[in-house]
Amino acid sequence: MRPEILFPLFAPVTVLPGVGPRFGKLLQRLAGPAVVDLLWHLPNGIIDRSFTPKIKEAPEGAIATIRLQVDAHLKPRNPRQPYRVRCRDETGFLHLVYFHVKGDWLDKLLPVGATRWVSGRVERFNNEIQITHPDHVLAPEEFQRMKPNEPVYGLTAGLPLRTVQKAVDAALARLPKLPEWQEPSLLQQRRWPGWAQALASAHAPAGPAELLPEAPARQRLAYDELLANQLAIALVRAHTKRLPGRSIKVAGKLRQKVLDGLPFSLTASQRQALAEIAGDMASPARMLRLLQGDVGSGKTVVALIAMLDAVEAGAQAALMAPTEILARQHFATLTKLAAGSGVEIALLTGREKGRAREALLQRLADGSIGIAVGTHALFQEDVVFKDLALAVIDEQHRFGVEQRIALSSKGSGVDILVMTATPIPRSLMLTAYGDLDASRLTEKPAGRQKVTTRTVPLDRLEEVIDAARRALERGAKIYWICPLVEESEQVDLAAADERAAQLRGLFGERVGLIHGRLKGAERDRVMAGFAGSGIDLLVATTVVEVGVDVPEATVMVVEHAERFGLAQLHQLRGRIGRGDKPSACLLLYAKPLGETAKARLTILRECDDGFHIAEEDLRLRGAGEVLGTRQSGMPELRLADLAAHADLIAVAREDARLALSRDPGLQSPRGTALRALLYLFQRDQAVRYVRSG
Ligand code: ADP
Ligand code: MG
Repeated sequence: MRPEILFPLFAPVTVLPGVGPRFGKLLQRLAGPAVVDLLWHLPNGIIDRSFTPKIKEAPEGAIATIRLQVDAHLKPRNPRQPYRVRCRDETGFLHLVYFHVKGDWLDKLLPVGATRWVSGRVERFNNEIQITHPDHVLAPEEFQRMKPNEPVYGLTAGLPLRTVQKAVDAALARLPKLPEWQEPSLLQQRRWPGWAQALASAHAPAGPAELLPEAPARQRLAYDELLANQLAIALVRAHTKRLPGRSIKVAGKLRQKVLDGLPFSLTASQRQALAEIAGDMASPARMLRLLQGDVGSGKTVVALIAMLDAVEAGAQAALMAPTEILARQHFATLTKLAAGSGVEIALLTGREKGRAREALLQRLADGSIGIAVGTHALFQEDVVFKDLALAVIDEQHRFGVEQRIALSSKGSGVDILVMTATPIPRSLMLTAYGDLDASRLTEKPAGRQKVTTRTVPLDRLEEVIDAARRALERGAKIYWICPLVEESEQVDLAAADERAAQLRGLFGERVGLIHGRLKGAERDRVMAGFAGSGIDLLVATTVVEVGVDVPEATVMVVEHAERFGLAQLHQLRGRIGRGDKPSACLLLYAKPLGETAKARLTILRECDDGFHIAEEDLRLRGAGEVLGTRQSGMPELRLADLAAHADLIAVAREDARLALSRDPGLQSPRGTALRALLYLFQRDQAVRYVRSG
């Protein structure tokens, strides 16, 4: 349970003075529901209030803080006119302008004859100098209160900056005195402040340099977060490793049969990955290994061979895919590849129903099925394996951690192999999995053709259609991708529908349309038509994003490429260039292109290395979005910036490892402080895995 000392930080934001239900909701939307969330909401800019000119010297457009005498209130004659307060100093006059004034608060704030410090943006209107809605109006004795460098925060509609500033100040005032969880030597070496000091400084930057991720206060806070993250991962992993695993060692007869039948030989990195996987499976500990490889690098064969090893040992294996299309595709591929092995492979998705499903479940339970391929349907409660030894999970980031656990609980000591085509940058991998074992397929199978990538503005659609016509005449197959990004799926679908209708008008029945709303059987029919004959141009929403393998497809058109993420575009592009003919990818974009979008498309045009692209993606978008943090079970980092603080991750990992090896029960004074750190970053679940006694 969360220690009491942290309660003030986990109270709802509405406990803060000046935060009622309305602002509470907005602050929650902005930062999060609790006081601590506001603390993590660091400023992204500074307003310099230190410029104190005389009226005559105040330049238009500048933020100025001016000492004034209140001269007169010029009240509006009708409510649409502004309320003006005339002020002066020894060099001239200035008007303070207010709209929609109700009541007499301005009389109190700016009594005639009083001296006031006023700060705001200087404007010129009808040859007069004015400040509209000044940010600060202070009596001389209050002047000290004005911060010369005022922090600026990201906002949300309806939430004034001032409210956020006040709420943050109030949150800072509630900081409990927590024991230091960082090693004093590290703090000294890095010149990092204590936690409370770091928060205070981060929210009161003395200059622009203190807003940078390298500023000591920000580094310290980022390191806290990374340490909590690495500790949590280490605890969860230690817990999993304590669970019993099993040792699978086989002669490799089945694997050899399949290898003998392949029309190609394995690449060196496929062989390397297989050796690593076999090593894990042979060891009595549980395997938890990531198989990373760019699209088309040949992960499926590697997975199949690992699964055959499990079957040869007398056990069973399962392969789980994120979508029905992918599960079917895997099933078809594996059935073909494994034909010579005599192993029975079955498909189980939401579409297998009734008697067929019953029969299938029976054969899974009695062990006649060696390899089951499917979707989430594989975890349903009535699915029982005779002896599941290996679970392969494709495209990991679409599954949550719970689902992974659900699958591994279907057998005893199930080894897990996670395949992902999204190359995860090392920094992100460490924060997501710690030092999870990983195998990488770094080479493309021999004989692959290069994909030429071009970027074309959408207003040259006619030319693109002409190019498509020529390609079709040459016998090419074309993917035409319409993005699913609008608010409503309906609208997106309409766009894809419309494009398909237009292209059908030009090219006839060889144009197919596929999208997430199509019924399973219809989808299969369309995909089969594209993979075989009948359909040569496939208009698709992003359902083809992962896995689909049609080697004859050599052209890909992506509409509104600027709306896609880098890694996502790279994935899509991986659908072509799989056969022996050269391929072309046309990225259509709407003008004008923003800086980031431009940078993204340029990288894609110039680079074909998935790992490089993933690093760039991380740099351009930040970690949260790269893998779609929310659905992914990836940790969301509030303070650490994986690109800027990458070097701290390794330090935190080592720190966490050492701390736990010295004090596995987190009982020492530092251990207790580290527990508080885990709770502070809401890793309550991980604390449960601290070894007791
Ligand atoms: P991934 O799942 O990594 O995107 P796949 O496993 O679907 O890639 O492989 C893509 C294609 O390459 C498949 O048609 C597969 O049969 C083929 N392939 C796999 N390994 C090799 C290899 N070593 N040499 C040639 N082709 C290969
Ligand atoms: Mg694949």
